Amino acid sequence: METKIRSLRDDIDKLNLEILEKLSERAKIAEAIGELQTQTGSSHYDPVREAEMLDALTAANDGPFSDATVKSLFKQIFQASMQLEQEQDKKTYLTSRSKDRGDTIVEIRGTRIGTGESPVLIAGPCAIESKEQVDVTAAKVASRGVTLFRGGAFKPRTDPYSFQGLGEEGLKLGRAAADAHGLAFVAEIMDARDLPAFEQYADVLQVGARNMQNFTLLKAIGQSRKPVLLKRGLSATIQEWVMAAEYLLYEGNPNVILCERGIRTYEPTTRNTLDVSAVALAKQETHLPVVVDVTHSGGRRDLLVPLTKAALAIGADGIMMEVHPNPAVALSDQKQQVDFDSFDAYLEATGYDKKLTPDRHEVYGF
Ligand code: PEP
Ligand code: MN
Repeated sequence: METKIRSLRDDIDKLNLEILEKLSERAKIAEAIGELQTQTGSSHYDPVREAEMLDALTAANDGPFSDATVKSLFKQIFQASMQLEQEQDKKTYLTSRSKDRGDTIVEIRGTRIGTGESPVLIAGPCAIESKEQVDVTAAKVASRGVTLFRGGAFKPRTDPYSFQGLGEEGLKLGRAAADAHGLAFVAEIMDARDLPAFEQYADVLQVGARNMQNFTLLKAIGQSRKPVLLKRGLSATIQEWVMAAEYLLYEGNPNVILCERGIRTYEPTTRNTLDVSAVALAKQETHLPVVVDVTHSGGRRDLLVPLTKAALAIGADGIMMEVHPNPAVALSDQKQQVDFDSFDAYLEATGYDKKLTPDRHEVYGF
């Protein structure tokens, strides 16, 4: 009896190998079909084709498996093939993390973002309002060891009658303040026609949430070699956000930093909802650095510290936040910018004061 079982098992082993060989052969054909589908822009999932295959299989089925069992076995095979096709697509994207591509580190005037060790801090006012305001703020953040200074000169405002930014004059003021205090200057670009001015005055081109899918703008700044900080759109999916980054890489600009800044949800107590899973997923699926804007995500000063901790805990490469000498009279985002004393308290509460680029392992214990 035992020898009989052993011999039957030998037959099964042989058949297993034959089935595996056939499955692999089938998978290669599926990959070839997947490639053609990708080239022609058609979907990998074709329910009509799948139903036809299942019908043909059940018609040919003489048992002993029931039709339902045959169907479920083959559905598994179809599913595995589709996953293979999707994986294949992902590998072709320039933003995709893949074995042969390490983490992208973006260097801005000596500050490296995406090293996996020291999260950076980008701090400065929401908007550049005057020479004095931008200069004192730059002096303050520089005195605390910040190297990346933000300030908007072209402001995307919901209300057309509200302060729109100082435009090119603001860029010049931001540049001068950054230079005076040894800082790199991050500013939002809204129009491709302003690119020459940004090339001259800014170190980082920020693409705001409202322009994440302005493909003309993305294509234009993709031609630049200036680092780009790409905010996630107000209601953009993670895939749409990553695809926007793909535009930049495709155009030849490798210096892309993703920025999660909260998404619009039904929750009214925060301005936006910080999507921490998007940070983890962007880190997992792409090789780009990811920073979190804690000012616009919560829209509340009392959330800056916990949101910063959450962002760093989940693997963000840095934080962006807004500081203003006197938020009560700020021309934009009065509610969420912090004054200098609160900035000091923020640095202390988040651990950024120890050394501005604190070792995450030391400060957060993992
Ligand atoms: C900003 O950072 O100044 C800004 C306008 O942010 P967002 O585009 O994320 O709304
Ligand atoms: Mn703002």
